[in-house]
Amino acid sequence: MKHSHVYQHYALNSNDELVNIDSTVKDDVKSIFAGKCVDIGMASLTALLTNKRWGCRNICIFGFPASYMAKYSRLVPIVDIEKCVNCGLCETDCRTGVRLLHYIKDNKGLVADSECIMCGSCSVVCKKDAISYQFVWNRKKFMNDR
Ligand code: SF4
Ligand code: SF4
Repeated sequence: MKHSHVYQHYALNSNDELVNIDSTVKDDVKSIFAGKCVDIGMASLTALLTNKRWGCRNICIFGFPASYMAKYSRLVPIVDIEKCVNCGLCETDCRTGVRLLHYIKDNKGLVADSECIMCGSCSVVCKKDAISYQFVWNRKKFMNDR
């Protein structure tokens, strides 16, 4: 016949009472887990409310393949740096948080960003009509030619 043993662990608490440590540890683990769930829930909610398209980037199953493919997209927004006055309107308006000013300053206006969804909003908002969409087959060549 097979015997099984169940061990229970006890200890004295600060009032010299014998308490079952196992159940205390289980309660602690449960409360830590519940606390972490609340933390994660609050952090996700805050991100959803404050970060543009956070859900698209971090939750949507199409987000990753879409941003991966965007790296190889040949149709990209181009900022004419001669017309641009660095007002920042396009960046403020961009719903995916593309840092257009960075691309204007450091990338000769070539907005090669995997977060760009080609919505067209930046070109509409630009008062200087500085943003257009062009097919760029060789990004390095394009930048060297500018
Ligand atoms: S909105 Fe137009 S002018 Fe202003 S920073 Fe963007 S591209 Fe430049
Ligand atoms: S086309 Fe849309 S997503 Fe892309 S940079 Fe402009 S505003 Fe942002």
